[in-house]
Amino acid sequence: MDDVLSEFGVSKDRLTPECNLALYRDGENTVLFDVGSGPDFMPSAGTIVDSLDALGLAPEDITHVVFTHAHPDHIWGLLDEFDDPLFYDATYMMGRQEWDYWWNPETVSTIGEARAAFAVGAKRRMEAIEDSVVLFDDGSEILPGIAAVSSPGHTPGHMGFEIRNGSNAALVVGDAIGNHHVAFQRPSWESGSDQDAALAVKTRQMLFDRLTSEDLTLIGFHLPDGGMGKVEPYRDGYRFIGI
Ligand SMILES: [Zn+2]
Repeated sequence: MDDVLSEFGVSKDRLTPECNLALYRDGENTVLFDVGSGPDFMPSAGTIVDSLDALGLAPEDITHVVFTHAHPDHIWGLLDEFDDPLFYDATYMMGRQEWDYWWNPETVSTIGEARAAFAVGAKRRMEAIEDSVVLFDDGSEILPGIAAVSSPGHTPGHMGFEIRNGSNAALVVGDAIGNHHVAFQRPSWESGSDQDAALAVKTRQMLFDRLTSEDLTLIGFHLPDGGMGKVEPYRDGYRFIGI
């Protein structure tokens, strides 16, 4: 672990991962993947509205919000300061299995003490979109050119997304590939940030196989360089090449 981390100039004591939200525009739809944590989770977060503004977009321009999973840094930003959905004109979409897991009243007691607040926080956000949320399953084309890719382990119903536009294709992997050092160089190592670490290893290997064999662009949430890049085989694992 120390070898891998020092090569990337990060120390074990201070891992401050990046958080990148992916935005996809096809001329008709403006799709946001995850909403970030909002200011409730950590004071440095909550800049989504400013970031959209820099692109000339306002919250009402977002037509769809698609969740990879319901951890705090991905869903807590759903509510504005009046506890209403921040993207009030958007259709919210989540994998059915992920929704069912966090909606289940038993999750708060089965998830473990360290993550109990995750369950409470997720449910509160989900209640705000309960009446209109669109649930989907593995493989479904949720929007033109966007297909759901089941990628469980980090959370029980974690979803990735394959975006296809002509011969260009990208894979939004959320936290199924959660960092650019250990996850790439030692993909078979289990990580404490994954709720089912063994399943997460299998998912990670499946995703790396696809990313390399199909030469897909990777879009990751906690990766550097805006989170977009290519994956190359490297030593016994892989490496991230930002683009
Ligand atoms: Zn995350």
